[in-house]
Amino acid sequence: SFLSVTLRKIFPMTFRDLNLKKPLWNALDDLGYETPTTIQAASFNVMMSGKDTIGIAQTGTGKTLAYILPCLCMWKFSKDPHPQILIIVPTRELVAQVVREVEKLTPYMNVAVGGVYGGTNMNTQAAMVLQGLDVLVGTPGRILDLAANGSLQLKHAKKVVIDEVDETLSLGFRAQLLRIFEFLPVKRQNMVFSATLSEEVSDFLEANFTVPVRVEAARSGTALAQIDQIGYRVPNFLSKVQMLHHLLENTVDSSKVLVFVQSRALADMLFEEMESSLLNSVGVIHSNKAQNFRFNSVQNFQTGVFRVLIATDLIARGIDVTDVTLVINFDIPEIPENYIHRIGRTGRADKNGVAITFVSEKDADALSKIESLMQQELPFTEVPSEVEMTDELLEFEKPVAQIPGKLLKLAKREVGPAFHEKKAKNKKVNVRYDHKKAMMDKYGKPKRKRN
Ligand code: AMP
Repeated sequence: SFLSVTLRKIFPMTFRDLNLKKPLWNALDDLGYETPTTIQAASFNVMMSGKDTIGIAQTGTGKTLAYILPCLCMWKFSKDPHPQILIIVPTRELVAQVVREVEKLTPYMNVAVGGVYGGTNMNTQAAMVLQGLDVLVGTPGRILDLAANGSLQLKHAKKVVIDEVDETLSLGFRAQLLRIFEFLPVKRQNMVFSATLSEEVSDFLEANFTVPVRVEAARSGTALAQIDQIGYRVPNFLSKVQMLHHLLENTVDSSKVLVFVQSRALADMLFEEMESSLLNSVGVIHSNKAQNFRFNSVQNFQTGVFRVLIATDLIARGIDVTDVTLVINFDIPEIPENYIHRIGRTGRADKNGVAITFVSEKDADALSKIESLMQQELPFTEVPSEVEMTDELLEFEKPVAQIPGKLLKLAKREVGPAFHEKKAKNKKVNVRYDHKKAMMDKYGKPKRKRN
């Protein structure tokens, strides 16, 4: 009936309800994607109408397909070798992920897609661009360099996507974006995606776009409904390590676990702690690691070689890992929006997930910021009694002694004999991890039980 046709247009139930092209439907069939996610359904017709669009959507909501589908739908084959679709993203990992998504959708189309990013040889990338591309995905700095040296012509780019504009701006890419705009044709369609509408993002949008249509996956700041969130009160690093061991042994589905820590140094430290018990099934990724190492870590995590991946915020944003069963905030994020990003890595594209957060006393402020952003409280569960808590603080956790007018520098954690010993023991043998013995070996005394 007329009503059901209208309703299906407004609330598309399947991808067949969207006015896509056959090659795209076929690709979606092959992928087994049937139902558009909220952001895909909400933005498709707006984008197809050619209007500038702002999408408020977090990672895991299907936002990448939300812009790729209409872009590819409006794309027309041209003999011209310059990209018609330009997708600007903040990190190299995201470049790789978006290129993959475009490739997944275009096995039945004659579309050439390529990715460019900094930190690698520019000549190789310039040569790829000069061979001719229909879709170019890249980080702002490298896109600008290629445009400025003439290898990349942007005057045919009619569809311009800026993904994760909030992150792009907070990484300090504003000037590069503005300069890229100068290379673009005036008549173009802009599609901008952001996880949150911060003041910085709003100002940027207002200054550069005229009345874009706004579509949202979920109200900005709301945690995705299909993620079960749990908090545990855990006082310090060593206790958190015990809790992490416990969760990895006892959580029903802990087959793909993403663990977030505060800093690169902590990521490495936690990796060393976990390595001996998880043998070769744990990886670490942060921005101090070489590009190859980062790609390999993500690849190993995605394919299941690594059961656990330890990561810092920035890197985790761009990585494409599906079916993360459990996100653990080993450290609570200082920036409340990052909490949403982190937990958004599980429960992706309408799959259920669990997000667990360790909260210590000094995290009270950060926690209340997160709770007010979500407009809900984080439900807490008691730490099981068999998990051994300790009062022992590592050097970096100890309160910094204050000399009037001067701040004492934190002493670096010593890499003592315990670590060498662990390295030697760290061979591929399948012994069950004996926690008590490990503690004895490591600290020379049993850890005190929690009261
Ligand atoms: P994104 O939010 O763009 O990072 O996408 C999250 C993941 O969900 C990606 O691996 C997509 O390929 C996948 N995905 C996106 N849209 C759908 C959909 N409608 N159905 C099933 N999976 C999807």
